[in-house]
Amino acid sequence: MAMCRYGGCSETARGDSAWCILHLDFPKEDDPEFTRIRDEKQLKTKEKIQGGDLNFEGTNIYGVDASELSIPVQNNAIFKNATIKGRVKFERTKIEQDASFEGAKIEKNASFAGAEIGGEARFEEAEIGGDATFAGVEIGGEAWFKRAKIGGYATFAGAQIGGNACFGTVEIGGDAWFGGAEIGGDARFEEAEIGGEAWFRGAQIAGDVRFEEAEIAGDIRFEEAEIAGDVRLQGAKIGGEACFEGAEIGGTLNLV
Ligand SMILES: [Zn+2]
Repeated sequence: MAMCRYGGCSETARGDSAWCILHLDFPKEDDPEFTRIRDEKQLKTKEKIQGGDLNFEGTNIYGVDASELSIPVQNNAIFKNATIKGRVKFERTKIEQDASFEGAKIEKNASFAGAEIGGEARFEEAEIGGDATFAGVEIGGEAWFKRAKIGGYATFAGAQIGGNACFGTVEIGGDAWFGGAEIGGDARFEEAEIGGEAWFRGAQIAGDVRFEEAEIAGDIRFEEAEIAGDVRLQGAKIGGEACFEGAEIGGTLNLV
């Protein structure tokens, strides 16, 4: 049996194709094999997740539900460059190492609400068509969302991020909710485009807050937030108001 041609994939190729069922491209809806291929992809995805194998790098799949699972230290959750026609759910999932979704395309929502990620959350250049829900997530390392595109809102309310929150050049269609979040490093949103509000009420940030050149359609709100470093809003365009009432800022507040 021929092996799948995708680098590092140890599955056998399907039929006379060069790819395993997961790396095989999506069938067109008028393909007579559409239902069969879709069902096979869904079944294989489920079996792989249930077997504790979360390496889906470069796959073409119809959705992922890994909620409530415990993913051991030897298995990272790898969805780098995967295309997911559907939603991704890791609600209350424990991932001992990294969650790697660099360049992944997720058609609908991605929910990591209440998940624990021991390492880093890597979503550089990922595209999420719907909402990105990370409320109450615990991330041991950094949260990387540079150049990511989120069609709906991004909520990190009450999230705990051990390192920096890197959202430079991120595009968020709706609000960015970081109310009550704890960030162990900087909150970096340079050149970010946020279609709604940037809400950081009561957030605790151990480093700087950086929104240089960012465009925020609504308000930017840091009431009661604790920021150990500087706040940098130079060149930012804010459609609503910038509110820092009751905030404690260790460094300097640079509005322009
Ligand atoms: Zn493969």
